[in-house]
Amino acid sequence: MTIRGGRASGAHLRLAASAPRSRRKIPRRIAVLGAGGFVGSHLVPRLAARGDTEIVAVDRDLGKLAGGLRGVRRIEADISEPGLLEDVVGGAEAVVSLTALCNPALYNTRPLEVMDASFGDLLPLVKLCAARRLWLVHFSTCEVYGRLALDVDGRRTAVMDEDRTALFLGPVHSERWSYAAAKQLLERVIWAHGRHAGLPFTIVRPFNVIGPRMDFIPGVDGEGIPRVLACFMHALMSGTPLQLVDGGRQRRSFLDVSELVGAVERMLERPDRCRGQIFNLGNPSNDLTIRGLAKALAAAYRKLRPDQSAARFETVTAEAFYGAGYDDSVARIPTIDKATRLLGWRPRRTVEEMLPGIVADYLERYGADCAASADPAGWSQLGRAEFAVGRSRR
Ligand code: UDP
Repeated sequence: MTIRGGRASGAHLRLAASAPRSRRKIPRRIAVLGAGGFVGSHLVPRLAARGDTEIVAVDRDLGKLAGGLRGVRRIEADISEPGLLEDVVGGAEAVVSLTALCNPALYNTRPLEVMDASFGDLLPLVKLCAARRLWLVHFSTCEVYGRLALDVDGRRTAVMDEDRTALFLGPVHSERWSYAAAKQLLERVIWAHGRHAGLPFTIVRPFNVIGPRMDFIPGVDGEGIPRVLACFMHALMSGTPLQLVDGGRQRRSFLDVSELVGAVERMLERPDRCRGQIFNLGNPSNDLTIRGLAKALAAAYRKLRPDQSAARFETVTAEAFYGAGYDDSVARIPTIDKATRLLGWRPRRTVEEMLPGIVADYLERYGADCAASADPAGWSQLGRAEFAVGRSRR
């Protein structure tokens, strides 16, 4: 375990006196588990900038999290390390749990690790928070809704609703659903602890959150298949075709990560409204096909790199790309009525507004490496199931 910025338990850190205070208070001490992942690396700086909270930021790798944040204690360790959870939640008034292996390429290739990370490793946290009556803000996933939106009588509906939509996963041999099943079970465990064992909880179901620092680029800072945005950016930067799984007809609703962390901040400001609730956080107005995303991203890339040749697109089968046992969500549109009603939150950023900043960030961080290693034959092999698959934390 590596600890920076102080001991894991002990004297509290001095807070930034000059930082602007927001309208409402949030818990004075917050433990963020998974602080070095994509969402954590955006959430922790946002909370730290308020100047009214201390954060214990925990991850096995905190490389993505900016250094030098006032009021943030960094702990590099695995949450399954004996004694770690007791140590980091001691003194906290709220815990935000973000740790997971949330990358579809892993669900059917490393389901045991995925289910451990999404369920087994977190069960002790739920019990600990229940025993201490500590507010747990747990990141679940829209993946729990499964293949498409159905009401409890099995009829197709347009949107996914936290309290009314059934959770519709495929058969057990479709290992794609290993992650969703583990996340769903943990939600049920959290819910039961809330109802029967005094756990104050809030569950978040994010819908396809995108932004800078998402995932990894194969061959640069990870191996295997990242999530779709990073796959497409890798293809664009290395001049290879964007691979459209099954033609890219699947639909997703994309949310800007800055708006997601804004919603979490609002939750932390409103414990009475959020405890005992499950929230969808997504942007129903940004529902588009994966082919549509590929085209929009290629256009944004071309604007920043007009010297590059036009993007190429290629259809691949899901089995060739992800291997046996992969299955897909057909469409995912959240209703966000509850978040609007209880948090006063409504996301506004369109995909067109988000993409230029995301493309610029990827180019700054990876452009040179990708151009240097551009190897169409090598990249086309990365989609094959026999290749090692990388890890991705939310
Ligand atoms: N996908 C694709 N090409 C890629 C990577 C992913 O067409 O290079 C598809 C994938 O099959 C899925 C969608 O893009 O239908 C979204 O993938 P993502 O990795 O974001 O995960 P998901 O939304 O399914 O959790």
